[in-house]
Amino acid sequence: MNYLVGDGMSLNQLSRLTRKTVKELESDLNHLEKSLKHKGAKLGIDPALCRKCGFEFPTTKLHKPSRCPECKATWIQEPKIFVKDKVELD
Ligand SMILES: [Zn+2]
Repeated sequence: MNYLVGDGMSLNQLSRLTRKTVKELESDLNHLEKSLKHKGAKLGIDPALCRKCGFEFPTTKLHKPSRCPECKATWIQEPKIFVKDKVELD
C-alpha cells in the first residue's frame, strides 16, 4: 500500500496495480487505516469532483459516483485515497 503515500490514487488505479477487486481493497483499506492509527497517521480522501460544474461529492464514498446530482454530468473525477502523515493531524 505504499502506492498511497504522496498524491494517492483512486480505487480503480489501485485495483489495476494490485490486481485486487475494489471490494478486497476496501477491506484492505480498513485494515490499513487501523494500522496507520497506531503510527499516528491516517488515510485521507480527496473527494470526487464533477468536472463540469465543480460539485464536490462527500468524502464518505470511495467509489466513483456515476453522475453529478447538480448538473447530471457523468464526467466525474474519481476520489483519491492517500496517506496523511502525522504532521497534518489535528
Ligand atoms: Zn456537475
